[in-house]
Amino acid sequence: MTENTDPNYAVQLDAQDLLAHFREQFVIDDPDLIYLDGNSLGRLLKKSSTLAQDLVERQWGKQLIRGWNEGWIDLQAQIGGKIGQLIGADADEVIVADSTSINLFKLALAAVKFNNGRSKIITDDLNFPSDLYILHGVAQLAERPLQVQVVPSDGIYGPVEALAAAIDNDTALVALSHTTFKSSYTYDLTAVTQLAHNAGALMLWDMSHSVGSVPADLHAANVPLAVGCTYKYLNGGPGSPAFLYIQREWQARLGNPITGWMGHAEMFAFDLDYQRDTGLRHFLTGTPPVLSTALIEPGVDLLLAAGMDQLRAKSVQQSSYLIDLWHAWLEPLGFRLNSPEDATQRGSHISLGHDDGWRISQALINEMHVIPDFRQPDNIRLGIAPIYTRFSDIYEGMRRLRQVVTDRLYERYPAAQNTVT
Ligand SMILES: *Cc1c(COP(=O)(O)O)cnc(C)c1O
Repeated sequence: MTENTDPNYAVQLDAQDLLAHFREQFVIDDPDLIYLDGNSLGRLLKKSSTLAQDLVERQWGKQLIRGWNEGWIDLQAQIGGKIGQLIGADADEVIVADSTSINLFKLALAAVKFNNGRSKIITDDLNFPSDLYILHGVAQLAERPLQVQVVPSDGIYGPVEALAAAIDNDTALVALSHTTFKSSYTYDLTAVTQLAHNAGALMLWDMSHSVGSVPADLHAANVPLAVGCTYKYLNGGPGSPAFLYIQREWQARLGNPITGWMGHAEMFAFDLDYQRDTGLRHFLTGTPPVLSTALIEPGVDLLLAAGMDQLRAKSVQQSSYLIDLWHAWLEPLGFRLNSPEDATQRGSHISLGHDDGWRISQALINEMHVIPDFRQPDNIRLGIAPIYTRFSDIYEGMRRLRQVVTDRLYERYPAAQNTVT
């Protein structure tokens, strides 16, 4: 372990990294900035920057309304199909639309309506708060209100055994994050989906924190429903639309609760009655945001070129390296590892807890030029995006984090928090 604190070790690992050249595809004009927040907002690709200009000046400015027939109308399915390759789904099973929260709403309500008569939705307390709020809202909208059972965890590990005990023949839906946003704990898709299916419940996975960094094979795991985010590891840009996945055999059985003209079998017939599209398109609602949808594609193309297995191998090597540095430097300074130490149980970010976590993260950003993010109550989250994060970023980020504490730089910061962290 000791040799890992040698800066040359990081340089050596970068030199051996077969994915290192992908970093050149990103706009990185501040060489001193260590960006460890790609799990909240991925970096800008050079290609997305030129595409944005083309979208505005040529496609919108010159093509005008003709743009819809020259590609815009197909973007959601086309890019969804490519995202499908990242998660083990077929091209006609994934579509880009709306936000993750809204997609979750549509799929969860469709699922509980399908399993009408069952009275429970099961989730856990590691799930993203918006997901919990949505599930509570869905529970109230069903014909007979359901109960949302939030299975408690120890704060780091998914409560698999307690979930197994809670999921029963009265469970309509099990909804969980594949990789959890705070601790990075990552569920076994196959095993938990099987638990739901054994009880006749539908399973809905939120892939927001895993897609693009943790490989998934939704088909092999027999997953019926999933949603996910594109502005994190897919580098789609701030607020870029999300995706939803419905396994082929479920597409006709479920109904979109927000029926709109984009889900109509013939949207431009302007028929007064709703006739739903026979494929996944019936889960669309209104006009898509073309500019931000189109900007998702370059990031997805780049991840496909790098390969999910290679990205995962690098991510595991990098998060393990970060944990080694934590052991050597930060554990003695009062930092706790709030993520699983076993690589097979974690995603691509590591949470370090510290009693002064908020102030330390502020000092790290303002004085040390390192961008992590902070999640209550004490988590400094360090996101590793293997497509552009270097081993030397991890070395230098951790070195600066240590310095914030050894030089007591955080003591100048108040304990009160900003709204967007
Ligand atoms: C990021 C994230 C979201 C974000 O949802 P929005 O609708 O885009 O705000 C939802 N769920 C999970 C698990 C996330 O990580």
